Amino acid sequence: APAVRPGAQRAAPRRDAGGSAQLSLLPGDGEPAEGGGRRRRSAVAEASRRRSPTPPERLGELLREAFGFPAFRPYQEAVCRAVTAGEDALVVMPTGAGKSLCYQLPGLARAGTTLVISPLIALMEDQVEKLQTLGLAAERIHSGRQRADSREVCRAYLAGRLDYLFIAPERLAVPGFTEFLARRKPVLIAVDEAHCISHWGHDFRPDYRLLGERLPQLRPAPIIALTATATPLVQDDVAGQLGIPGARRFIHGFRRTNIAVEVVEMRPALRHEAVARILEPAARRPAIVYAPTRRKAEELGDELAATLPAATYHAGMAPAARDRVQAAFLAGELQVIVATIAFGMGVDKPDVRTVVHTGLPGTLEGYYQEIGRAGRDGEPSRAILLYSFADRRTHEYFHRKSYPDSLVLERLFRKLGPTPRPKAQLLRALAIDAETFDAALEKLWIHGGAQVDPAENVSRGADGWQEPYRAQSEHRLAQLAQITRFAETPECRMLHLVSHFGDREDSGQPCGICDVCDPAGCVAQERRPPTADETAVLERAVDRLRQRPDLTTGQLYQQCCPSGAPDRRTFERLLGGLVRAGLAEVREDSFHKGGREIHFRRASLSAAGYRSGPEELAAVRLEVPPAAAAKRKTRRRRTKRRPADEPALEAADPQLVDALKAWRLKEAHRRRIPAFRIMPDRTLLGIAAARPRSEAQLLAVKGMGPTLVKKYGRPLIDIVGRAD
Ligand code: ADP
Ligand code: MG
Repeated sequence: APAVRPGAQRAAPRRDAGGSAQLSLLPGDGEPAEGGGRRRRSAVAEASRRRSPTPPERLGELLREAFGFPAFRPYQEAVCRAVTAGEDALVVMPTGAGKSLCYQLPGLARAGTTLVISPLIALMEDQVEKLQTLGLAAERIHSGRQRADSREVCRAYLAGRLDYLFIAPERLAVPGFTEFLARRKPVLIAVDEAHCISHWGHDFRPDYRLLGERLPQLRPAPIIALTATATPLVQDDVAGQLGIPGARRFIHGFRRTNIAVEVVEMRPALRHEAVARILEPAARRPAIVYAPTRRKAEELGDELAATLPAATYHAGMAPAARDRVQAAFLAGELQVIVATIAFGMGVDKPDVRTVVHTGLPGTLEGYYQEIGRAGRDGEPSRAILLYSFADRRTHEYFHRKSYPDSLVLERLFRKLGPTPRPKAQLLRALAIDAETFDAALEKLWIHGGAQVDPAENVSRGADGWQEPYRAQSEHRLAQLAQITRFAETPECRMLHLVSHFGDREDSGQPCGICDVCDPAGCVAQERRPPTADETAVLERAVDRLRQRPDLTTGQLYQQCCPSGAPDRRTFERLLGGLVRAGLAEVREDSFHKGGREIHFRRASLSAAGYRSGPEELAAVRLEVPPAAAAKRKTRRRRTKRRPADEPALEAADPQLVDALKAWRLKEAHRRRIPAFRIMPDRTLLGIAAARPRSEAQLLAVKGMGPTLVKKYGRPLIDIVGRAD
């Protein structure tokens, strides 16, 4: 089978957000549905629908007959047995582990229709196609399909002719739809990508709350929720939202034994050269390099291409160019891809030897997904993260922009009444910059505090938005703190990742191959011996720990460096040197205070540390400190400086802006959503400033993705053309 579906590589899937701008229109949407010819019903499936349910001990047979797999993957059987027996389940396993089978097989075994709730049209189409190819009766209803097709699917559902019916969560908001489903209850309800339901997810949308309200009408079928990315906090939230607090939890398989994780603190200016050096030996390729922005991806891609078979890949490139790059990478002609996170969905290249991140990712979950693309063949591979404190500041800068202070939302909220007021009027009344205003309005709308009509007249929504907004914003910051801790803590990297996901059955053993377990095996880190001053601090630290094991690193710092020199971060780096030399151990700890989790670290000596003397301390190797570290004092000041990737919008012609806004309003009316859900003002201004003449140029505008271009590319380019 081809590794990549032709449609899947064109765009990152968007939500089937009911009535929202991202509605439908994904790759493949609008293309004629597959004819019935290939839908030969397999005898097995027919039989299983008519026959009595398959008992748990015969699930293995059904696996072979219906799906053609010789055996279960790890943990699949345990999940299938529980669900077949009617238990609710929460399954958290990494991408590629085979979660789909965990509902597909029990659904067949329970002999009836399985209702699958999936938030992404592309994933839905993909699964339906695979099941149909197996001869199973799978269908879907979503916003991208013709009404007549959906009606036919409904008839088949009621007649009991379907093994699987896929829908988007928003479908349950359509009046009467849940009641319709309840006329012939499913034997199993599967919620795929279940993290989307959680408040804590950054793309949480209020519509997903519907599930908790509507699913009880479809019971008593068991519910199975599946995701690759839920931390324990999100797991609890998902189970709570779905009304299955007692669900059996299957959280497995996050340990990757063949990926050596290496984290290196490095000034941004040095990173590109480091990447070239890292990837020079042929054995470290094929490789994927993740860059934080499209522009940086392009720069690095061009630099690397001078010496290596390398190319860039990001969502701002024309689809044909992206497809070419991806195909060449899969075929082995290109050995290095420099990409934004747009790359990787649906890419299954087994022999990726190295994954490099040239900046700190926003979340540990995202990071884990990306490094997971290394070494699918099980051969030794390496994941290298280059970061510095400046990266965190960049993330914080963007966070402040998308989550304005809740006082700003509060001021806006107080200006709202029952009578809708034009957005522009509110903006003037609030006297804040347009970007902050837009962010505040959107967040207030998402959390129910504001109602916005298509023409962007705003009226008061419900109270009670404050808490969810605060929680969501803080969760984002907590995620940033999490990945920063991961980068900074001298603790086995794999162990840190595995415990982050809450894998309770993991062995708990250090991996033996990461930069903390095996510093000598590192390929990117530069080391140096300690200076005389540093050696003195190391001696004091070892002395203190000999007397007081398990001190917090804060206490240890105060006792070793009462004068405040060196600073705390430098001290933690020295401690990291002790850990890597095998002389000390540092572990993460936390406590709860005022509903919050406070994290800290404790340090102790290892057996070798207790025995150590001057010779051992002289052998400690330290990271070369980033030269920028000394200037960190300025960080509290809110810099007005924009990161270089921000567009220059001053060039926009006001008449063109008006024309684009008029078009947007018409579109918003047609779709019955606020105009900013079509596209935000800053994207619109970006188009007016750039005056794109082709789809490729339009794609290059910040905020425009392939989905938006596919949907609106023609009218936008026409409007720009007419303005000349
Ligand atoms: P996930 O949803 O966990 O990311 P999928 O359900 O999409 O993963 O499965 C990943 C791949 O593994 C699919 O190609 C699927 O056909 C395959 N797969 C699943 N279970 C088995 C099995 N028991 N044996 C062999 N292949 C399997
Ligand atoms: Mg899946």
